[in-house]
Amino acid sequence: MRRLLLACFLIATAVAHSQAFYGRTSGPLVYLNYGLGEDRLGGAKAGFLDSNVLVKVVDSVKADYKVQLSKAHFAYLPKSAFRTDTAIKLQAYYLTGSWKVYGDSAADYVNISLTEKLPYKSVQQINPARLVVDVFGVTSNTNWITQLKTTQEIKNAWYEQVEDDVFRIFIELKHQQHWGYSIAYKNNVLQIKIKRQPPSLSLKKLKIAIDAGHGGTNAGADGLTSKVLEKDYTLKIAKEVEAYLKKKGAAVYMTRTHDTDLSMVERTVMLREQAPDFLISIHLNSAGSPTVKGTSTYYRYIGFRPLSQAILKRMLELGLDEYGNVGSFNFSLSGPTEYPNCLVEVAFLSNPDDEKKILDPKFHKAVAKKITQGIEDWLKGMK
Ligand SMILES: [Zn+2]
Repeated sequence: MRRLLLACFLIATAVAHSQAFYGRTSGPLVYLNYGLGEDRLGGAKAGFLDSNVLVKVVDSVKADYKVQLSKAHFAYLPKSAFRTDTAIKLQAYYLTGSWKVYGDSAADYVNISLTEKLPYKSVQQINPARLVVDVFGVTSNTNWITQLKTTQEIKNAWYEQVEDDVFRIFIELKHQQHWGYSIAYKNNVLQIKIKRQPPSLSLKKLKIAIDAGHGGTNAGADGLTSKVLEKDYTLKIAKEVEAYLKKKGAAVYMTRTHDTDLSMVERTVMLREQAPDFLISIHLNSAGSPTVKGTSTYYRYIGFRPLSQAILKRMLELGLDEYGNVGSFNFSLSGPTEYPNCLVEVAFLSNPDDEKKILDPKFHKAVAKKITQGIEDWLKGMK
């Protein structure tokens, strides 16, 4: 009896692991993780996906589904971003169709016809500036790429079938600087929207978003001796940056102007709607040891690095130590690909020297000036 039960259990487990099932992505900010790694800000993300994308689930691990993207590629999808769909009609194979590369008054586009909403991943490349998008589970039948002269930012678009079921799209940009992109399905057409470099790089012509970190019940770090809250000082500094940029003629959008609760998803959705030219996030750092200090800037994607380097260079003129320029950073607001963005961790609230500076209103004004100068340096350096 006991032996029989055990045997049944083993069979049940084996079946549970071998039975793949299909469904679709669901929600406004669906993302894939590379693996099951976790850190303070969650595991390393392989990028965002549109909703209603077909996914094949092959395993279940805690809060994630392991999904199979192609014969050789897997990723992890939060279960909350998945819904079962019994209406899915699987096709024996999936093929790409013709492309259209064009522009309208707002942006450039690459439209690729498919017969199903299949998963994809994208990556920015620099020197030359390119966007590379892999579409999984599909084989080329693209023999026609129409390119219209209405494009302004796309220099070239082509593809390579890098594996039997991995279709790689290359989009070469005219400018060195990446200004952002988004990928979404319009019916079964995969549309890659490419933001153009603004026609004028004067601050007077640009719209800049500023995010004051934390707020409401999310207080952030606190001061080593003063016990002041990070959320209050990020807002004070953000307001100075706003004032300084406005004085220079820029349009500024603040994600918050008061001590309000605002989740990362809410901030991201708001920013997506606002479509700024770029985003600056303001935070104050904190470490376990009070000797750790200095200023730092952060980015996720290599194409957005130059803004963070230019701002750090100016921030160092305030006499702060260099904590560094940090890449591949897993901060929620560094995740969107729609616009360049930079997180500024002004200084450490947990260090006595840095804390003294942070408490001084004159320092807030000085930070605002340095961030603005960094932005101006970045803009001037563009070709
Ligand atoms: Zn913070």
